[in-house]
Amino acid sequence: MQKIKHKITALLLGAAVMTASIASPSGITPLGTMSNAPVSAYAADKITIDDMPSDFIYAADWIWTNRIEREGSTKRRNTIFDMIVAGKGTINYVVKWQSYRTVTYEQRQQFEKMLSDCINGWNDWLVGYENWPYDHIDVKIVGWAVIDKSCLLDLHDDEIVYTDTKYYDAQYDTSNGRDTIPDKEPFAPDNISRFYHFENSNNPNFDAYNYPGGLDKRFDMYMWATQGFPDIGGCGGDWGQRLSDTAYLNMIDSSGIHVLEHEIGHGFGMTDFYGGEGEIDGFPPGGFPGGENSLMMAGSSAKITTFDGWMLRYMWTKIKDEDGRFDLANAQPIETTTTTTTTTTTSETTTTTTTTTTSETTTTTTTTSIDTQKIEFSDTIAAIDETSITFENHGTFALNEGYSDRDETNLAFYEAGDVIKITLWYQPTELPAIVSVDNIELISNIRDEQIKYGDTNCDGQIDMSDAVLVMQSLANPDKYGLQGSDPSHITDQGLKNADCYNTGDGVTNNDALAIQKYKLEIISELPEKE
Ligand SMILES: [Zn+2]
Repeated sequence: MQKIKHKITALLLGAAVMTASIASPSGITPLGTMSNAPVSAYAADKITIDDMPSDFIYAADWIWTNRIEREGSTKRRNTIFDMIVAGKGTINYVVKWQSYRTVTYEQRQQFEKMLSDCINGWNDWLVGYENWPYDHIDVKIVGWAVIDKSCLLDLHDDEIVYTDTKYYDAQYDTSNGRDTIPDKEPFAPDNISRFYHFENSNNPNFDAYNYPGGLDKRFDMYMWATQGFPDIGGCGGDWGQRLSDTAYLNMIDSSGIHVLEHEIGHGFGMTDFYGGEGEIDGFPPGGFPGGENSLMMAGSSAKITTFDGWMLRYMWTKIKDEDGRFDLANAQPIETTTTTTTTTTTSETTTTTTTTTTSETTTTTTTTSIDTQKIEFSDTIAAIDETSITFENHGTFALNEGYSDRDETNLAFYEAGDVIKITLWYQPTELPAIVSVDNIELISNIRDEQIKYGDTNCDGQIDMSDAVLVMQSLANPDKYGLQGSDPSHITDQGLKNADCYNTGDGVTNNDALAIQKYKLEIISELPEKE
């Protein structure tokens, strides 16, 4: 066993440093209490940007100028701010259930509550702040797009189900190693998707697009669940949030909901903070004020921090008066309808070329953000070369430059057959790339199993020449040591084989003695115990 503190690439140094400084470990964020409750709606009634803590101003300005404005992440008029105002205080989701796992009626209702809690976890910070019109966002799941309708157990009459699918090519996705990623992708009709119509619906003439069936029949985002995706990791944008099916299911009643809140943060136009301090993709010089880091710096916080809440307010201040963007004069809440809708089931054979382009557009939107995620597991290396590593149960990862050196502190030092415990950060892009490795612990090493104790010169036999080479390598390391000039110098494997007395203490003269004792049959086997 050896423990190796791996060098961390510059790309994630900032996050790693910040992670180390957080007071409480990331983890459980119970449903319903995921945000720091900001001041109540009444007390917060007159909150303005002038109330922002003075030590937050520099960081907020820096993030706005260097990240949000430069990257244009609030420019597209389809942020969640835009969705909420256009929806008159509502957000509608369609669940894209790209999975053959069954979902009970109760779980479907819990998903709606989970989405509502996450959206409102952010909205709570806007309540009573600078003309933000809504105390609470009415979040609804207005449909399920599925690849197998029978997965929806105990289907009720008022649930809308879409069964159109298109071919999904999963060959470049990372698998969780347990499930097959479905080769079908379900979808809901484009004509009720805000994503395809927002440019007509609130700029410059508000609500120019008429959704079939009315505004409350439209959907704003997908909650996209994919079977076979890694248990952690996700992406988010103005098209919705995508995680594995089990990640969503696990969020219903346990930890990890902050991952979804992070992805929803992207929907508001918030950026990730993967780079270093003050860097182009990094965090503000001096770090995040408030002592809680940021939910948007993956791994540094498991909740919406006070600074995050103020950053959201700051963003609203910056965009709310943009000409023609927010119809605040008509922002009163939508009337709640109690109409019962009959189940709409589209035929599975009606996939058309028009709908085939749906997801390509969806996934290439500029506001999509692919997140770096942390994962820890023990697994056997199935294959490794200079560009990639494949684990038996955790799939293939690309090795970034710098992982190709064959030294002991490096991932590429390990070989197929080694079992390692590893903590790594990766980006779930098409072929997930390892961004940095925090820790590698060797659980079992195939090379150890190949050790032939006593065979110092690796010729397959144990004889006096092995004892001689031990003594030569100690007495004259320049000639017979690991880097020795003599062709018969000791090798890596030879050093391991030679350590045959009190194994683990390195190569000493006692090892040469043990070989001699073995040859003289004073001891019956190697290694000799102390
Ligand atoms: Zn992110």
